[in-house]
Amino acid sequence: MKDLKPITFSQLPYCRPLIIAGPCSAESEQQTITTAKMLAARGIKVFRSGLWKPRTKPGGFEGVGSEGLAWLKRVKQETGMMVATEVATERHIEESLNAGIDMLWIGARTSANPFSMQQIADALRGVDIPILVKNPVNPDLDLWIGAIERLYNAGLRRIGAIHRGFTSYGKHLYRNQPQWHIPIELRRRIPQLPIIGDPSHIAGRTDFIAQLSQQAMDLGFDGLIIESHCSPNEALSDASQQLTPDALHEILSCLVVRESCLITEKLTELRRHIDNLDNELISLLAERMRVSREIGHYKKGNSMPILQANRYDEILTKRIAQAQQLGMSESFIKSILEAIHEESVQQQVRILNK
Ligand code: PEP
Ligand code: MN
Repeated sequence: MKDLKPITFSQLPYCRPLIIAGPCSAESEQQTITTAKMLAARGIKVFRSGLWKPRTKPGGFEGVGSEGLAWLKRVKQETGMMVATEVATERHIEESLNAGIDMLWIGARTSANPFSMQQIADALRGVDIPILVKNPVNPDLDLWIGAIERLYNAGLRRIGAIHRGFTSYGKHLYRNQPQWHIPIELRRRIPQLPIIGDPSHIAGRTDFIAQLSQQAMDLGFDGLIIESHCSPNEALSDASQQLTPDALHEILSCLVVRESCLITEKLTELRRHIDNLDNELISLLAERMRVSREIGHYKKGNSMPILQANRYDEILTKRIAQAQQLGMSESFIKSILEAIHEESVQQQVRILNK
């Protein structure tokens, strides 16, 4: 996908971060226009608003549907902002294109469904419009990339990805868990693909939005999509995560955006150092496995079982304490030791079965 293009609009110069803001849903003409005017006055150039809302359960507010397209047209005319909405079916696409919507996004429930994604790609064949693909609700990078590839294969080039976190069972700090390593791996696999952070849907509440936005910027994301409502307490969907336009403005003005592609001599030197350390780590691990195999031969010769639980407990306790003293977290060192232990056991099992 080397010829992917940045997310640009003919009427708007490229900028990083690309900020997209607006209510979760368009609820009434007045709420839509009021919010849009407040955001435009605070420098927002791209307005988001859901018209067709995919709700987990039936019976809630499922969006105003096609009726809201005229309101978004008014937003364009009266504020000059670009307008974006979520589409999930061929009909949504046809109506949005006819209404002059400038940008589309695919929701997390839709990107998880290859049938829907193929229908959307077919409906967009030959259309040149910026389109953002939210990560599927479940942490499946291949499914996310698959959704993006279907659009790419249909000829779309201004494609971006949105990281909105992943659902998990039970109560957690965040509404949707941000598994940052997944968008980072996405960047490694498709470096040209713009990535946008969605702190609103990750957080599910307003007080985490500033910190999540900064984290997205620090990881080199290209933009942010943030929910903002003229009167959040009265919002018909996602009320607890929508910011007032003033609060959004405050967060954006405190955002530190670092130039991500500046590679200085200092950075090159530090990276060389990291490469050397990684080299040593791999050699040390290989040596450790060699000793494990020697132990395996010894155990085999003396008819001893491979697993000796108290020995593993002793290693864990000692090394976790040591690592913590050196500023590493317990969960990090535990996962490393578990992986090493598993490989070690595998190597000994192979010896035993020879
Ligand atoms: C939204 O952007 O309002 C939305 C429904 O998001 P998601 O698909 O991430 O749940
Ligand atoms: Mn929402």
